[in-house]
This record gives sequence, structure tokens and C-alpha cells, in this order.
Amino acid sequence: MRQMTLEEKKAGLKEKGVLLTIQRSAILDFLQDNTQHPTAEDIYQSLQGLYPALSRATVYNTLDLFKQHGLVREVTIERNKAHYDYKTEPHHHFHCRHCGKIYDVGMEEVIFERQGGLNGHKMEEARLYIFGTCAACVREEGNARTP
Ligand code: ZN
Ligand code: MN
Repeated sequence: MRQMTLEEKKAGLKEKGVLLTIQRSAILDFLQDNTQHPTAEDIYQSLQGLYPALSRATVYNTLDLFKQHGLVREVTIERNKAHYDYKTEPHHHFHCRHCGKIYDVGMEEVIFERQGGLNGHKMEEARLYIFGTCAACVREEGNARTP
């Protein structure tokens, strides 16, 4: 799974017939430039000055739309608070209990975490959820395809 460029993401939407309005485009651009995993409210607060007609509903709907089309990822590391990630390729997140910031962590960095590892973050707890298709379902899908 390779990271899509901004141009590829925008072209992908166009191909699917999804209208890329100025506001939608601004939200995607903002997410590309912002690696801090902003919430919908963060995005609204940051863009509202530039786009006075922007509503919270538009931000929420746009994020849903981007999520459906695989352009952004929802990060649910914090309870009851969704963060959004422009980076869709598989990676982990580190949540600081002190400042609340969320950092990207590579897949290998967690497995090989040693003292002082994990980009200098001090790891206290790790939960890893992996999503996909299980081996049994992969076999079933394979069988279904064979006539
Ligand atoms: Zn911190
Ligand atoms: Mn991330």
C-alpha cells in the first residue's frame, strides 16, 4: 500500500465523479500540511478564518467523504475523539499522555522498541489492532472465485 500524492487523491475523486469544491480542496490541503492528526474541530477552527462560509457540518461531511474514498484515515487512539490522518499507508501512533500530541510511529519501530527507542518517546503501554481479511476468509474468497 503506497502513499498517494495529493494530485493522485484529487484526480481519484474527480474520476469517481466527486466534486472537489474549494472548501473540500482546502480541507484536503490542510490535512496534507498538518501531520499533527487534527480533529474535525481543529480543522474547522484553522480554516474558518480563511473560509467564512465554512460550517462544522461541511467539515464533518467532507471528512466522511474522504474517509469513504480512502483519502484520509480516522485515528481513534483517544476515546470519543476522532483524529484525521492524511497518511493512509499502514503505520502506528504514539499518544503523549502529557501534551496530548499524536505522533506517527513506523511498524518496525514498535516491534524493535528498545530502551530509548520509539523516536525518543517513552513507551508505557501498547495496544495494536490490525484490520484486514483473516486467513479463513481469504481461503473462502479464493474458493468462491474458482468455478
Ligand atoms: Zn508530549
Ligand atoms: Mn499518522
